[in-house]
Amino acid sequence: LNSFFAPIQQLVQLYNVYQQGQSSVTKLRELLDTEPTVAESPDAAELPPVRGELLFEDVGFGYLEDRPVLSGVNLRVRAGETIALVGPTGAGKSTLARLIVRFYDPTGGRVLIDGHDLRDLSITSLRRQLGVVPQEPFLFGGTIRDNVSFGRPEATDEEVWEAIRATGLESLVERMPEGIDTVVHERGQSLSSGERQLLALARAFLVRPRVLVLDEATSNLDLQSESRIEAALDALLEGRTAVLVAHRLSTAMKADRIAVVDDGRVIEVGGHDELVAAGGRYADMFATWSRHGGAPHEP
Ligand code: ATP
Repeated sequence: LNSFFAPIQQLVQLYNVYQQGQSSVTKLRELLDTEPTVAESPDAAELPPVRGELLFEDVGFGYLEDRPVLSGVNLRVRAGETIALVGPTGAGKSTLARLIVRFYDPTGGRVLIDGHDLRDLSITSLRRQLGVVPQEPFLFGGTIRDNVSFGRPEATDEEVWEAIRATGLESLVERMPEGIDTVVHERGQSLSSGERQLLALARAFLVRPRVLVLDEATSNLDLQSESRIEAALDALLEGRTAVLVAHRLSTAMKADRIAVVDDGRVIEVGGHDELVAAGGRYADMFATWSRHGGAPHEP
């Protein structure tokens, strides 16, 4: 499985290698802000505050020439709704999500946010209104506070604590020798995979973005971590647009709507009951999943 936010992770790892000893969150932010992975138009516009409607219009994309990964994708994500992307491995779910964050630009069609073509926008101004939670969140060598406030270094302690409480990390942080000033390791060895996910959710919570893009963890988490993550997600998704790359049907079922991605196309969109009643691909997936007793992972 390739990682959703591999470009940023690589950048952070590079940064960690070159900047050991002079860890500075501000510098890291500058690096991320000034190294877009796509070319910015010379007259790029600042994105005004958005409601958070996303529109894919006949979108095509391929990483390599002559190897389309997405083709003819049409999808409207309404402001404030949670939409789950489901479908077989390699179908193009993460790729769709990467286009929203503008790690890549489509090779055909357009992606719009509140009617603005993403290609006309300054990347920094776009990403300021987006929250991203990768499947394997990165931590960098620094304190818990630095790691949570990564997207908003000017946040007060109170705000950082609010994010920590909202994501159920309070007891963990309180148990740490120096609370939010405890230094965690770059590769996050000191935190479990569930705790790293929660920290990434706290990071996103603090920024309070209009639009959230989440890649659900596929790693097996213990039950307690799972239920904490579920509760944190409820808090985080409330009132904002969210695109969730769902690897579990149990998660997808809770979204407002589900988009089934297959072979680079969105083939069905609708609520869980609606899609089950329609008897199409989602209904098949759901039937298989139910027959297997609702196993946590996709069949
Ligand atoms: P999964 O559920 O396994 O995460 P997915 O539906 O998210 O799958 P994508 O990760 O979007 O699928 O991948 C779609 C296709 O694009 C796959 O064939 C994949 O191998 C290819 N692909 C993904 N990332 C890259 C890349 N960086 N370079 C080249 N090909 C890629």
